[in-house]
Amino acid sequence: AKKSPSERVQFFASEFGEQVHRRQEMISGLKLAIHNQQLELQFQPQFDRARACTGYEVLLRWYHPVLGSVSPAEFIPLAEQTGLIVSIGDWVLEQALATLKLWVAQGFRGRLAVNVSAMQLHDEAFADRIATLLEQYGVAARYLELEITETALMENVERAMATLNRFRELGLDLAVDDFGTGYSSLAYFKVMPVSRIKIDRSFVSGLPENDQDEVLCRTIINMAHSMGCEVIAEGVETEAQASWLALAGCDELQGYLLGKPALEGFLPENIDI
Ligand code: C2E
Ligand code: CA
Ligand code: CA
Ligand code: CA
Repeated sequence: AKKSPSERVQFFASEFGEQVHRRQEMISGLKLAIHNQQLELQFQPQFDRARACTGYEVLLRWYHPVLGSVSPAEFIPLAEQTGLIVSIGDWVLEQALATLKLWVAQGFRGRLAVNVSAMQLHDEAFADRIATLLEQYGVAARYLELEITETALMENVERAMATLNRFRELGLDLAVDDFGTGYSSLAYFKVMPVSRIKIDRSFVSGLPENDQDEVLCRTIINMAHSMGCEVIAEGVETEAQASWLALAGCDELQGYLLGKPALEGFLPENIDI
């Protein structure tokens, strides 16, 4: 049956009320998530064209006793809006470096890529904190890569450039995440110290049937190479996508086809589990 206008208003009002309630619950939960040990890192492997693992991307997970497992797609934007991302981001970095220290001691020679939000990037103390953490954990900077979205870089180009140059001085690798979604001028990437471009999943998903996505991926790969950057494609789910990308010259692949995010991450070959 059709709802009367007043019923509809009531329906929307309660829907809206629930959303506000969930949001409030998430914000207060997030504030305590570190202290309550509800955060955890997962690791998704990355591969070269010969399908050898070159490293891992760190992906944050949040398990709330009432809300259950909350997706970072939902809680990261909230953490950004409330400024909580700064302390959460610091926690992620510290855990990542503790993990790296362990892995490197066990023979790991790849890289660990950590996602960095706009607010972290534009925090003037950020680069110094990373430098301190690297020293504290005795981890060489070349093992750490920072993934920064194209949109975050473009928010304040001048500020970003200053921080990026500090990263370069420290010897950190930089990847531009979600590339192709930010409508940025390619000219910026000529002057930015970026070592890797990450093709957004939304363009990979259309391969190899969608002609537009094909052109886009090919263009990104060629452009990145001409600027001396490597290219990695995210969200690779099918063999057809993987072989198309390899043929087009894409340097690395990441996605459910080759490995899902998991708790374990690196395990040295000579250790039995
Ligand atoms: P992202 O950086 O673009 O990360 C890739 C997302 O795609 C991850 O979702 C990953 O699990 C998912 N994914 C990987 N392979 C595939 C695939 O083959 N198919 C599909 N459909 N999805 C795939 P996740 O873990 O839910 O993270 C969502 C977003 O949350 C990330 O997107 C990133 O922007 C943010 N995020 C996660 N961890 C952190 C963190 O520690 N710090 C910050 N600032 N953001 C984070
Ligand atoms: Ca990422
Ligand atoms: Ca991405
Ligand atoms: Ca993406």
